[in-house]
Amino acid sequence: MKKYSKFITSLFLIAAILAGCISSRPMETLAAEPDTMEVHFLDVGQGDSTLITCGDHAMLIDAGDDSKGTTIQNYLKKQKVDKLDYLVLTHPDADHIGGAPVIITKFKINKVFVSNYEKDNKTYQKLIQSLDDKRLKYVTPDVGAQYTLGTATITFLAPNDEYDNPNDSSIALLVQNGDNRFLFTGDAGEDAEEDILENGLDISADVYHAGHHGSKTSTSEDFFEAVNPSCAVISCEEGNSYGHPHAQTLNTFRTNKVKVYRTDEDGTIIATSDGKKITFNVPPSETWKAGEPTGSAAASPKTSSAKASSKPKEQSVPSSTNETVQSSKQEEAVAAPETPAAPEQPKEAAPASEAVQEPQAQDTQGLTYVLNVKTMKFHRPTCGSLPTTNRQDSTDSRDTIISQGYVPCKKCKP
Ligand SMILES: [Zn+2]
Ligand SMILES: [Zn+2]
Repeated sequence: MKKYSKFITSLFLIAAILAGCISSRPMETLAAEPDTMEVHFLDVGQGDSTLITCGDHAMLIDAGDDSKGTTIQNYLKKQKVDKLDYLVLTHPDADHIGGAPVIITKFKINKVFVSNYEKDNKTYQKLIQSLDDKRLKYVTPDVGAQYTLGTATITFLAPNDEYDNPNDSSIALLVQNGDNRFLFTGDAGEDAEEDILENGLDISADVYHAGHHGSKTSTSEDFFEAVNPSCAVISCEEGNSYGHPHAQTLNTFRTNKVKVYRTDEDGTIIATSDGKKITFNVPPSETWKAGEPTGSAAASPKTSSAKASSKPKEQSVPSSTNETVQSSKQEEAVAAPETPAAPEQPKEAAPASEAVQEPQAQDTQGLTYVLNVKTMKFHRPTCGSLPTTNRQDSTDSRDTIISQGYVPCKKCKP
């Protein structure tokens, strides 16, 4: 009987397809249906560690300091994670890699990504030793390279250069599940943010893991505008000596109605994405409480503003225990799930400029340089990192442009 009805169903389907009244859409939908993705912003005190699971795949971004290795190990076990598709160590500062040797020793790991900045200290040596002991290879990801994590796609955005400091050398990545986009930038500062903007990849995100624990050296205005998040998560420890998060960063979030979640107030924060909407396990913070640097960090003269806006008036932001964020990135996201990247074959970023250069010779007579009126950089018209927004074509001389305050692009060196 069952067999018979199945047969009838098949007949009906074939007839229907022939008649053109249904497309093959149901099958496509099945294949592209995003799995549930969970992003766990672990409370590791002053440091970063984020576990992302999607279906039965998992990745860890950073591993807190060396006192947190076992805490993270236990958390992963509780989540029934016994192997990691990827371990991403954004940069070699102790609050990001200190706990990594425990994770490397205790878990099966498929791929390890590290920054191109190397440190000459014990914490770093311990990390490399643990990787070597496990015979794990580690590479710095190419900007634009994509990997899959279940139904989610990871796109690497940085490092874009070799910097003289570990923070700017941070790996940055965007993780997209269905329409939902999460951005991680490690401790990248303004220079590195600028270079991320310059590479022209889409960095808009629903959830922004605030750069450098909410420090004012990150989340520059231009960068924030491009990310345009509806939620921000800040990983820091209550009463940390660095004064994280900074009042300036909190202000940016507050003025732009970004919901803020903080590990120093709520402990581990979990965001769940079904591909359409994102739900948090806690309501957003409404304290807008800036950190107050103490000890050597307090020597900075610019810390008074932190106190000034420590306790601003309550602003009515509706909150409930399960905050839901509708993805605002519908249009861009539609195409994303259709091009899942093969895990072992990272796609290189297409040299962004090729298509742009040729036609310019024709219709822009006398074009000398291309300006970015926001970042105040100028480029040769043939540069691979021409701005897509805030662009202004110039026919002026190099000297004139420099006298207007523009600085030459580091890549095309005009
Ligand atoms: Zn850090
Ligand atoms: Zn750092």
